[in-house]
Amino acid sequence: MSKHHEIKPNHFSLPRRIERLGELAYNLWWTWNPDVQRLYKRINSDLWEKTAHNPVQFLRNVERAKLNAVTHDSYYLDFYDRALLEYDQYMEREDTWYQENHGHVQGELIAYFSSEFGLHETLPIYAGGLGVLSGDHLKEASDLGLPLVAMGFLYTKGYFTQLITEDGWQEAQYVKLRFDELPVLSLVDDDEKPLIVAVDLAGREILVRIWKIQVGRVPLYLLDSNVEENSAQDKELTSRLYSSDLDLRISQEIILGIGGVRAFRKLGHDPVVWHMNEGHSAFLALERLRELVEQEISFDEAVEIVKSKTIFTTHTPVPAGSDEFPDWLIDKYFYTFQQQLGLDREQFCDLARHKVSWGETFSMPVLAMRMSSLRNGVSQLHGEVAREMWNYLWPDTRVDEVPISHITNGIHTGTWLAGRLRLLYGIYLGSDWMERIDDPEIWETVSNIPDEELWAVRRHLKRKLVFYMRERARNQWVEDEIHPVQVIASGALLNPYALTIGFARRFATYKRADLILKDFERLLSIINQSNYPVQIIFAGKAHPADKPGKLLIQNVYRKVKLAESGGRLVFLEDYDMNLARYLIQGVDVWMNTPRRPNEASGTSGQKAALNGVLNFSILDGWWREGYNGKNGWVIGSDEDLGDPNLQDEMDSESLYDALENEIIPLYYNRSSDNLPVEWIARMKESIRTLAPEFSMRRMVKSYAKDMYFQLMDNNQ
Ligand SMILES: *Cc1c(COP(=O)(O)O)cnc(C)c1O
Repeated sequence: MSKHHEIKPNHFSLPRRIERLGELAYNLWWTWNPDVQRLYKRINSDLWEKTAHNPVQFLRNVERAKLNAVTHDSYYLDFYDRALLEYDQYMEREDTWYQENHGHVQGELIAYFSSEFGLHETLPIYAGGLGVLSGDHLKEASDLGLPLVAMGFLYTKGYFTQLITEDGWQEAQYVKLRFDELPVLSLVDDDEKPLIVAVDLAGREILVRIWKIQVGRVPLYLLDSNVEENSAQDKELTSRLYSSDLDLRISQEIILGIGGVRAFRKLGHDPVVWHMNEGHSAFLALERLRELVEQEISFDEAVEIVKSKTIFTTHTPVPAGSDEFPDWLIDKYFYTFQQQLGLDREQFCDLARHKVSWGETFSMPVLAMRMSSLRNGVSQLHGEVAREMWNYLWPDTRVDEVPISHITNGIHTGTWLAGRLRLLYGIYLGSDWMERIDDPEIWETVSNIPDEELWAVRRHLKRKLVFYMRERARNQWVEDEIHPVQVIASGALLNPYALTIGFARRFATYKRADLILKDFERLLSIINQSNYPVQIIFAGKAHPADKPGKLLIQNVYRKVKLAESGGRLVFLEDYDMNLARYLIQGVDVWMNTPRRPNEASGTSGQKAALNGVLNFSILDGWWREGYNGKNGWVIGSDEDLGDPNLQDEMDSESLYDALENEIIPLYYNRSSDNLPVEWIARMKESIRTLAPEFSMRRMVKSYAKDMYFQLMDNNQ
């Protein structure tokens, strides 16, 4: 362990009375505490919007006069004092859930690895659902007081910004992140030199720098190969997410797995649990084996030790989605490593051997399965699918006894709940409801919320979404010379009173974004009824190398642009956590149409449900568990037809039927005071049943009780 400390790249010169605004900016606790966001916004709300809700950038740019002004505002100062008191109590709290349910043992740590973390829109180091899940996991671990430390990448160019051409083709733009404008802390040693670890990449020594982001009580360490001593090419190794270049990919995964273990050692950490969120980090097991073998422990014994401390969560329900490498790449990158483990080539490849149609590969999920003692899928159905998919690794075991369980995904309530609803829940669920998010009893009292109050908030949130879209459309119009049809396609004509359906997710073909477009004439007749207008908002990125995904965007975009769509079909560019928040809070219905069982879990529908938005989805992933007949709607049935074309046909019929016969009539069926009473009843049923069960609180408690504590107790 080397001595180290952290430095903030900024020393804001703030008025003494409010100087801790600088400290709050460097702890992402503010991302799930709207009161802190208001502290910045109140100083200068235009700048707060202009800096895209980034307190570090905000404080670098705000005028001194505005700062001085609030130091004379007693209301502001009161608010400031209360927010800081809450922050201090949060950070110092000792009676946490973890303390009460396990008891703190000094130095006991859980290491959590993920290739992406979605914490806030200003930190584009995530691509989608996996990252948002990891980010939410850290926030909840912090809330519960778990001794968790996390490892990932600080991608210097982030995930791409999406632009759609006039003809609907997705273009990717990469912007270099400015770390001095982000809540990123630099770690340095006693000589003020950056904290660095080295890994070997096919004979080259690569240096990797360690950065840190503070997420409440949880530190997230991030690796970055952009270090002076590295070659120009190696500096770029960690600049982007998910390259399709295998050489680059294996290099990144070596940096994450092997470099990540070394980084923890450098920081003086010896975790008792190692949690691999998806297989990208599975090389971490090899580095820990190497450490043990170096201490003269036999290889077989080392495997048992590593397994006894390792957890693997798989997210991939189809073999084609697996992360794997051909043997020649393994030879190239692991030649010396094999010898350090005392293995020959065959023995080494056996650790992760996966048979595919054209031969054999070195499979990261296989390595992860073999090197862990607890494994899980991310929904009940995904658990079943995973047991079948990996049964061959346990050839003597019946499929239902394959040792892979499931813990269904959830969402971090404080992050995804609209501010207005948070206030409303505070009134009717009791002031301590956020302490009891996963307690179904608390949510029984949703029935006490008066219909008109709940509906007023829902209308407010939809107006907010519509204004936001108009503003975006207007800015595009002013800044770029784009065609008026593109302005309409991006939501300029949306009606804040019409039934609004949202569909936003990664554009991969299995998600079938075009299912609702299958019988376009029928769809047009559904959305264009003058008394019952319906509008549909699409958003989502395709992986830059996924041509079919990009064609899918183009197909949707061309339909959106047609005059017959009348501005009621919309495609919003650049889906990210900010747009996601507007959508899952602002629409009326959240639609999901994956081809089963590809949606391992999905989480966006859980965010929608928390905000009173009704789900309308295929019985896949979490919705197969969440749907109870009264809290939303289903598309299709719980049966698979086998033939994909027939399946699309049947599912789209089911979709149109439900819209025509149930959803639209229910929405427009109003009482004398213009309330959709039955709709609101369904909304309450949805909030009541789904908010506790699909919370990150329930999820992280399950990981703790069923996995973390098991391994901690075994290893005492
Ligand atoms: C929640 C979220 C996702 C994951 O949602 P799915 O239901 O898996 O599609 C993806 N991207 C963003 C930006 C999100 O906020």
